[in-house]
Amino acid sequence: MNVTNKEYQLLEEKIQTLSEQWTNLLEQETVTILEQRSTLKAFPAFSQLQLQIDIEQYRSFILELFSLLKEYQSDLDEALERLEMEITDEVLVQWIKEAIAVNDVYFESFAEKHRVAEWIPFFVAEHPLRPFLQKAAAEMTEELHKAEAQGCCPACGEAPRVAIINKKGKKEITCPRCHYAWEVKKISCAHCGSEEAGKIEILRVEKDDSSEIHVCHDCQGYTKVIDVRKFIQVEAISMLDLKTIHLDIIAQENGFGLVEVKEVH
Ligand SMILES: [Zn+2]
Ligand SMILES: [Zn+2]
Repeated sequence: MNVTNKEYQLLEEKIQTLSEQWTNLLEQETVTILEQRSTLKAFPAFSQLQLQIDIEQYRSFILELFSLLKEYQSDLDEALERLEMEITDEVLVQWIKEAIAVNDVYFESFAEKHRVAEWIPFFVAEHPLRPFLQKAAAEMTEELHKAEAQGCCPACGEAPRVAIINKKGKKEITCPRCHYAWEVKKISCAHCGSEEAGKIEILRVEKDDSSEIHVCHDCQGYTKVIDVRKFIQVEAISMLDLKTIHLDIIAQENGFGLVEVKEVH
């Protein structure tokens, strides 16, 4: 693991703490509309629903993230100050829509237009949105359980990259974005649904008996599987995801998961 990853991990830990504070603030709020939820027919759900997100609250989360980033990386000051002037209500409504859909093209052109590094707009739009998505997913677990989840998170559409082995010993795909979790068969591909024993291979890592990589020879997809039963303190799924980045590297070095990398020109 290189220095950049370590620094990034530290930053992510701070964002995680911030994110937990945001989650607490949203505890009493209701983000989804019952009538919409109960008549939901298509998934991922969040692209079909009108989520009730308070723009002022969303903006305050974004500004808190700005302060953290500035504190952490002073060379971002100028870019963030420029963005701070751009986040009108109108822009934030758009950000919510495009961040839910992970519209890279939109955010890249936003970055170009406002002369900031390519990664910044999506990063600062998406992280403060996660607590709202997590609240929404928590409100509608019942509806989501009815979804035929295949290839992506039925709530937010994220690729099923991480799973845990839960207390019951079951493999549970857990979405690092919205925290929605669903149990799957141990020998199954979360991407294409293949359940053929010969097609699913389990890669193990030396000196690490708590994690595996489940790879699929049908679609070349992979999922990291972390057995959290052995951990004294279980960390947030986004941190587990980040701390197992070496597993992503191993999977990709073996030729898995690369098909999913979107090339946007
Ligand atoms: Zn999700
Ligand atoms: Zn597959």
